[in-house]
Formats: sequence, C-alpha cells, structure tokens
Amino acid sequence: MARRRQLYEGKAKILFEGPEPGTLVQYFKDDATAFNAQKKGTITGKGVLNNRISEFLMTKLAEINIPTHFIRRLNMREQLIKEVEIIPIEVVVRNIAAGSIAQRLGIPEGTRLPRSIVEYYYKNDQLGDPMVAEEHITAFGWATPPDMDDIVHLTLRINDFLTGLFLGVGITLVDFKLEFGRLYENEEMRIVLADEISPDNCRLWDVKTNEKMDKDRFRRDLGKIEEAYQEVARRLGILPEAGARDMKGPETMQ
Ligand code: UDP
Repeated sequence: MARRRQLYEGKAKILFEGPEPGTLVQYFKDDATAFNAQKKGTITGKGVLNNRISEFLMTKLAEINIPTHFIRRLNMREQLIKEVEIIPIEVVVRNIAAGSIAQRLGIPEGTRLPRSIVEYYYKNDQLGDPMVAEEHITAFGWATPPDMDDIVHLTLRINDFLTGLFLGVGITLVDFKLEFGRLYENEEMRIVLADEISPDNCRLWDVKTNEKMDKDRFRRDLGKIEEAYQEVARRLGILPEAGARDMKGPETMQ
C-alpha cells in the first residue's frame, strides 16, 4: 500500500492524509515533551494507550451529543478523524489547583477551586503558548463570540461528564486541556472537539492516594510513567490483560 502523505508532525502525533476527502489519519507517537519542548523523552507504549483512551473518551462524549472529530480507531496507533480547521486556542479547565495556576497564584497544589475555572492559551510554540483572555481571542479573530459561546458550553459539559466518568473508576480529574475545530459539513459550520483526551493532557490523581497518573510523572521525573498510563486504561476497562474478559467496560469503584 502506498505510504500516506504526511501533512503535519506535532510533538506527540502525526497527521496523514485520510482515505477520503475531509478525513485525516491521526498517528500517536511515544514521544513526550514538556516545558514547551525543552524536556524530551519517550514513554514506551504511550501512543497505543493514548489512541485507545482518547477513542474511549471521545466515543463516550459522542454518546451525550458532544460533537467530536473522531470517526473510528484504525489500528493500535492510528485513528480516522474528520478534517477540521483548528482554532488556535488551548482551552484549559481546572477543578483543583495544580501546575501553572498553583504557581502563578500561589495556591497550594491540591486545593479544590471554588468552581471550575476555564482558561485560554494562544497556541504558539515560539511565544510559549501565552495565556489570553476572551477579549484577545475575539479581537484578533482567532474565534468569534458565537464560537466562544459554543466552546465554553461544550467545555463545561465535557468537564462535568468526564469528572463523573473518572470518579467512577477512582480517579480525580484535576484539570485538562481541550482543542476545538471548525467542521464544515452540508454548507454549515459546527464547532467540534478535536485533538485528543489522554493522560498527556489531563491531570489524573488516584482518588484515595492522590497519586499522579498522568504526564506530571514525566514532567517531574516521578518514574513509573508507563505503568500510570496503563493503569488509567485498565481502570477504564480498555486494557486487554487476559483477553476479552477484561474489555467489558469501566470498573466501578466503591
Ligand atoms: N496542558 C496541555 N498542553 C499544554 C499545556 C497544558 O495538555 O501545552 C494540560 C496539562 O496537562 C494540564 C492542564 O493542561 O492537564 C493545565 O496545565 P498547566 O497550565 O498547569 O500547565 P503545565 O503545568 O502543563 O505547564
């Protein structure tokens, strides 16, 4: 089979031309970066796990009518997605203080925030993804006010749903990052969830021990990175261990 044409290579994923117009193939690498790519490494098997975890979460979100770019998983490392025009904004939702908000505002990590907080960062590696306000986003035309209404509404629904889903398997959803795109279909434009949702872009803590089960293990050299990603998949019921018996679905925690 002819090699697919590569359209874009990012830090953790590669995008290839899809089999039909309007589709792309998203390939998940094992490469990991942190601190605006100053720290680089490999997490063996990460691509396979993130492909599977993101498939699972996007499929669950589609079941509650969140529009996403996800079509279907093709193999261990690739998924078929709809081609969208990416909005150059990283949308971060925080439930508990950690990472940059803890540092910037001097809030001890682990403090539950008074309510979920949504922040925006302009996607620009050269500038180190600076934080921006809705004012900047609409003034510079990165997204329109109606786009932003859709984005905030979808983001808060996604946060509520994923918080509950993870809590059900003994994981606290501390914060996460989303990206959205514009999908043009039947002469209409819709804002849809794009990119991926995985331990690369979520903070996930064990409910009982607060042990980190996400990319902070890589950022902070905590070790057992592969094991943590695997444990997230295992709890979600999507890590085949002893065959199909283990693929039933999420394991409810008491
Ligand atoms: N995040 C991400 N990509 C980025 C920046 C942040 O996926 O370029 C995620 C990160 O994994 C965390 C959340 O967004 O779940 C909030 O990150 P924070 O602002 O605390 O920044 P960080 O600690 O990653 O520098």
